[in-house]
Amino acid sequence: MKLEVKDLYKRFGEVVAARGVSFRVRGGEILVLLGPSGCGKTTVLRIIAGLEYPNRGDVRIDGRSVLHLPPERRNVGLLFQSYALFPHMTVYANVAYGLRFHGVPRGERKRRVRELLELVGLRGCERRKPHQLSHGQKQRVALARALAPEPNVLLLDEPLSALDAALRAELRGELRRILKERGTTSVYVTHDQEEGLSLGDRLAVMREGRIEQEGSPEELYFSPQTPFVASFLGGANLWKGILHHGPEGTRVESEGVWIPVEVVDLPEGEEVFLFFRPEDVEPGEGPLEAVVEEVEFRGDHWEIRGRVGVRSVTFISRERHSPGEKLRLAFRRLPRVLVEPH
Ligand code: ADP
Ligand code: MG
Repeated sequence: MKLEVKDLYKRFGEVVAARGVSFRVRGGEILVLLGPSGCGKTTVLRIIAGLEYPNRGDVRIDGRSVLHLPPERRNVGLLFQSYALFPHMTVYANVAYGLRFHGVPRGERKRRVRELLELVGLRGCERRKPHQLSHGQKQRVALARALAPEPNVLLLDEPLSALDAALRAELRGELRRILKERGTTSVYVTHDQEEGLSLGDRLAVMREGRIEQEGSPEELYFSPQTPFVASFLGGANLWKGILHHGPEGTRVESEGVWIPVEVVDLPEGEEVFLFFRPEDVEPGEGPLEAVVEEVEFRGDHWEIRGRVGVRSVTFISRERHSPGEKLRLAFRRLPRVLVEPH
């Protein structure tokens, strides 16, 4: 079912946690809310769930406002970092728990729990207690429990952040498969850009209570609209500079280095950020003179950190270089120009 969040505003005393947050999630779609700690992600989820009431704005599920409904009548599922399973109950009872309250008859309950445990890869674990499960298994049980009442919308708040890196990477692929297989409309909150990019159909990047940019993972990675989005999605080179239009084309001057950039509709003399990814620049005959500082072997390439004058730069090389070495760098595609939003 589709979810619409309209112009949410939420104040806690002096702190404004949401300043006009709006987005839509289509039926069956996974929207990722991505942003640093404290930017308001959990607050937005709690408002959707009915655990907080906004100062302004609306939440609609399938076109109807649910703002006046208590949490239990919204049929919204929740999955948090801490699984909060009932420790004395079996896996079966934990997953079946919510179904009783929804008046699902016993036979149907049994069928659904079986199907869900199968879906999350825990068939045969019905009779175990939570303490007999690994962290990853507990989180799978929690997911099955959240999905059991067939929620209109599932809200996931950093559900993998308590797990170690290898398990996190494994579970995120599985989580996506499960949500898509069930066709569950989902809002997935995370501060981890890699997780967000791999899990979301669409991403909304939040900063200080606002959504700064929304789009597909590819759009956000390749065409960030602001310096914040560019740097938050990782591995960006961002240099401050001054924009110039001239007979040689559009260029940015940054600490005495002149760099050709993509054409942009901004005035002469504007303070801008030059943006390029490590893979956009490589050793070759180009405008940058770099000194290598650190070299990391990555299998099919080396990732190199160095300096261009006072600027730091990260780039990719197909050949090995050593710290202290001087190199010229060429752009494989022209850097883009970004400015702070107003
Ligand atoms: P995130 O989930 O992105 O880390 P939160 O939504 O938890 O962010 O918090 C956003 C801001 O609102 C933070 O500054 C946080 O301290 C504040 N905040 C959240 N909940 C409350 C509350 N119940 N009382 C006071 N301040 C709160
Ligand atoms: Mg949070």
